[in-house]
Amino acid sequence: MMNMDFDRKLTIPMEAKAMYPLSPALAQIVGQRAKEIRDVITGRSDKLLLIIGPCSADNEDSVMEYLHKLRRVQEQVQEKVFIIPRLYTNKPRTTGDGYMGLLHQPDPVEKPDLFNGIVYTREFHMRALAETGFSCADEMLYPENLKYLDDLLAYVAVGARSVEDQQHRLTASGLDIPVGMKNPTGGNPEVMLNAIAAAQHEHTFIYRGWQAHSHGNPYAHAILRGYVDRYGQSYPNYHYEDLLRLSEAYEARMLQNPAVIVDTNHANSGKNHLEQVRIAKEVMSNRRCSGDIQRLVKGLMIESYLEDGAQPVGGGCYGKSITDPCLGWEKSERLIRDIADMV
Ligand code: PEP
Ligand code: MN
Repeated sequence: MMNMDFDRKLTIPMEAKAMYPLSPALAQIVGQRAKEIRDVITGRSDKLLLIIGPCSADNEDSVMEYLHKLRRVQEQVQEKVFIIPRLYTNKPRTTGDGYMGLLHQPDPVEKPDLFNGIVYTREFHMRALAETGFSCADEMLYPENLKYLDDLLAYVAVGARSVEDQQHRLTASGLDIPVGMKNPTGGNPEVMLNAIAAAQHEHTFIYRGWQAHSHGNPYAHAILRGYVDRYGQSYPNYHYEDLLRLSEAYEARMLQNPAVIVDTNHANSGKNHLEQVRIAKEVMSNRRCSGDIQRLVKGLMIESYLEDGAQPVGGGCYGKSITDPCLGWEKSERLIRDIADMV
């Protein structure tokens, strides 16, 4: 017998979409951006994707302020860099404890409220799009929730704790936007490559109470985020040799559109957020040293917010992360320009 209460029947994606419908003008922006992003993954465009923003979108005001600043920089680097903001609304917690993202907690200091969380998540992504023209990236933490946002998103990441899960892989195979498969926390690249292979194929499976058939996602690709050993020590996997090895592994597998995004935070920086500057520049400089790396590395993922570092939930500092530590705005702005100069 199940030992849980069913508190409340939630709104279904169709209802949430009817409450916050996407206008044809905004849908056109999402479609145009999706095409440009796909072109980077397939190699038709040689711009660099920059997936950048807070670890978690914990506060609407400070995240919107951040996005407006990002928009201004995007105009200046648009020939070289294509920015996809992180608007991460659900957070995986290593032990399940801690702030779970605005989907669960629209107010980080209040109890979970999933009804309002679902509606708010959609509303927030819509506002970002309407005010800044940015369709954003989010993590697919709960595959069944993707239908609340599938008409709005530019990019989806499958996290290090989810990448070995079959439902995530099969759901990714039913999307037409790029899905980044992170290496698992333990670092085994085969798990990540298996996830990419699974996502690139078609499947028949159960999705939201339906027998569903996915068509395969040729834009599924790798994200290297570093790894942690059994003693909790972080190790990077963004170095020259790591990238060359991934390029060879891709070739051996004959996957479509070999591509990697390098995540400069998490275990790659050992969560030393300031290291992201050095790591981003090292990857950009390695791209110049090897044609294989240049072709493979399609972008960077950077955790960045208004303020440097992180604080506890309820810490009260506006624009400072309450999950992983982020690079503050001035340093981020400088870094985006430097990255553009190195593309
Ligand atoms: C994140 O991108 O904030 C995240 C939780 O990443 P990972 O799955 O790599 O830990
Ligand atoms: Mn993070």
